[in-house]
Amino acid sequence: MTEIHELSDILANQIAAGEVIERPGSVVKELVENALDAQATQIDILVEDAGIKSIRVIDDGAGITNDQVQRAFLRHATSKISSRQDLFRVHSLGFRGEALPSIASVADVVLKTAVMDAKEGTKIHYRGGELVSQTGTNARQGTDILVKDLFFNTPARLKYLKSQATELAQIVDVINRLAMSYTKVAFHLVHNGKELLQTAGNGNLQQVIASVYGLSQAKKMVAVNISDNDFAISGYVSLPELTRSNRSYISILINGRFVKNYNLSKAIVKGYGSKLMVGRFPIAVLQISMDPLLVDVNVHPQKHEVRLSKEVQLMALIEEMIVKCFTNQNLIPDAYDNY
Ligand code: ADP
Ligand code: MG
Repeated sequence: MTEIHELSDILANQIAAGEVIERPGSVVKELVENALDAQATQIDILVEDAGIKSIRVIDDGAGITNDQVQRAFLRHATSKISSRQDLFRVHSLGFRGEALPSIASVADVVLKTAVMDAKEGTKIHYRGGELVSQTGTNARQGTDILVKDLFFNTPARLKYLKSQATELAQIVDVINRLAMSYTKVAFHLVHNGKELLQTAGNGNLQQVIASVYGLSQAKKMVAVNISDNDFAISGYVSLPELTRSNRSYISILINGRFVKNYNLSKAIVKGYGSKLMVGRFPIAVLQISMDPLLVDVNVHPQKHEVRLSKEVQLMALIEEMIVKCFTNQNLIPDAYDNY
């Protein structure tokens, strides 16, 4: 037996990366979430070979000051929470301070960033967790991060990746959902030079749904909303005639965060009652806002799962909303004034 010793930072980061960064889609998710947390209004996502070759995310957000750039790559270093109280009221998408160090430990990362009115920005380069260089760069406000050679030093992870089509589908899924959560942000996703999604960032969810699912599908969706003392829900759900064979077209966004929650999607389906055929599921996009105290996001490293303290109440409210929507002979979709 060797002595008990602390793992080096690089090794610890690589272990954390195993949880946070499973595939190119997880890198894209973390980087775009960082851009959103930095209040970006325009986010460009440029991907090559399904992200295996490179992922570049450019935002016009707040940027990072020159003296703090290295700190952003330290594990458990974050600007988003500082106290235990904050952990119970998370307003940002990130808070664990794990993404940048994890990504930098298993890839080649060049980050350029500048804050408003800075005279100079910073360009920093990490490879396999090691700092390669740090220099000054131009001072365009925002952050531009390029991730190449993902998993070059973790061959098992690289092998585990699926086909490029599957990995790309994951990336598209991540961006679609973030675009539907953040309708005021303009998203632009390009893969191998081909544009896959462009949203206007004008706050119109219906338009984003049309960009994601196509105009003809979006025309078969109706607006829904309801609220009580704890929850405010709004969004679009498909007419019973427009269905899919699985639940993955149900997007539930809690305080701007896409979550997987079987009970909430079940409540949507239950609201349709016998209008849906057995084994068929609607397309739905529901934005739910609630006091952050009612939702525990610190359940899963990738934060897909959350724990809700009033889940039963929320399920009932969702079901009621859908039932009402389809009983008020409300079956004619809104006019598409915007087209
Ligand atoms: P977390 O998002 O959990 O705080 P990250 O490792 O993803 O952890 O990022 C670390 C820190 O780096 C963030 O808290 C933030 O201060 C800064 N940061 C990362 N990406 C950006 C960005 N695109 N714009 C501005 N700041 C960023
Ligand atoms: Mg983050």
